[in-house]
Amino acid sequence: MTIYRATVLDTPVDPFGGGTLRAESDIALAVRDGQITARGPFADVRAATPDDEVLDLRDGVLLPGFVDTHVHFPQVRAIGALGMPLLDWLEHSALPEEARLHETGYAQSVATEFLHGLTRAGTTSALVFGSHFASAVDVLFTQAEQVGLRVTSGLVVSDRLLRADLLTTPERAYDESVALASRWQGHERIRYAVTPRFSYSCSADLLEACGAAYKDIDDAWCTSHVNENLTEVAEVTKLFGGTSYVGTYQDHGLLDTHTILAHNVHPTDAELDMLSASRAAVAHCPTSNASLGSGMFPLAAHLHHGVRVAMGTDVGGGTGFSMLKEGLQAYFIQSLLGAQGVSLTPAHLLHLATTAGADALGLRDQVGELSAGKRFDAVFVAPAADSPLGVGIRHAAGPDDALAKIFAMGTPADIGRVWVDGKQIKHDTW
Ligand SMILES: [Zn+2]
Repeated sequence: MTIYRATVLDTPVDPFGGGTLRAESDIALAVRDGQITARGPFADVRAATPDDEVLDLRDGVLLPGFVDTHVHFPQVRAIGALGMPLLDWLEHSALPEEARLHETGYAQSVATEFLHGLTRAGTTSALVFGSHFASAVDVLFTQAEQVGLRVTSGLVVSDRLLRADLLTTPERAYDESVALASRWQGHERIRYAVTPRFSYSCSADLLEACGAAYKDIDDAWCTSHVNENLTEVAEVTKLFGGTSYVGTYQDHGLLDTHTILAHNVHPTDAELDMLSASRAAVAHCPTSNASLGSGMFPLAAHLHHGVRVAMGTDVGGGTGFSMLKEGLQAYFIQSLLGAQGVSLTPAHLLHLATTAGADALGLRDQVGELSAGKRFDAVFVAPAADSPLGVGIRHAAGPDDALAKIFAMGTPADIGRVWVDGKQIKHDTW
């Protein structure tokens, strides 16, 4: 048993549903076998367990581990290619890099870099867009299991309009997806996600094969992209004879409570109704949306229609692995939308970075908040005392203000330690 003594901030009650930030200083979390067994004032918890090790974390702030619901494994080396809209960026930046993962040695290096990126940023659970190559997805799962992260991922499939070496066939897509799932589904913290890249690059036959794999793999997840860029949306509507973009997934049995679709910057009301009725979730990726000029996310419309929204970094369409930066960008976008935007508090940003993702990924009973009974997935934010963030936290007007400063100024360099299931996967020095 270990006792973590800290100031803890989390959002057990959804701020979009009236909840507020839960902030407690000098409390203790008692953790045994990866589970939080007690939470309360330090003196009380200590009195009940006088002999156990105490880790004093009072020189920073303890948050739940971040949950990134949209991040591309093969794009680590493609981060930061500015200046292109979606389809040009795919052709000139992302896809040439993704093709290199055909070589297993290359995929191994990229997987190491990728998992390092997540860990250093404090991300403990992720829905990862995999590779077009089954061998590279195997590499990702192998390394993710070693690191210990909660990773849901799968083989990315496409059969048109991308470079030839990234294309497959419906039969092969089904066979390889089912084979990967049979090797990995439920291994430690790993789960399988059926992953059509986007309807633009998937024929109806391929989406049908994805629907079959989704049905045949026990407890599978499904992820893809939707309504990111206006040119892309127009092309998809044309390719599918007028069917809405969300409808292309629904028509092939790919839309339900295990589905997370990235972006949805340009949805119609009918599509929002479809997402709400199916209980599918949307991964909002605000940095990517701004970087690729995709548009400003209509969060108010999603909330109005009751669509579940979580957050993702979209690396490499985004600009890095930090869910703090992503939260800040979400705030900026809603500010810029003026009367059409949603006024986001620091509690909303923390919710989007933690509990919302845990809910979207069906992990809400395990992670997202630091309460007794949950798994100990946590991030210790510990900036240098003389850094602007360190100074800001020390002089904050209260916990909400301190959290606002963490989102405004925090970077992966300020993440001291990270735990998943009680196992420390990042230390102060790396
Ligand atoms: Zn993406």
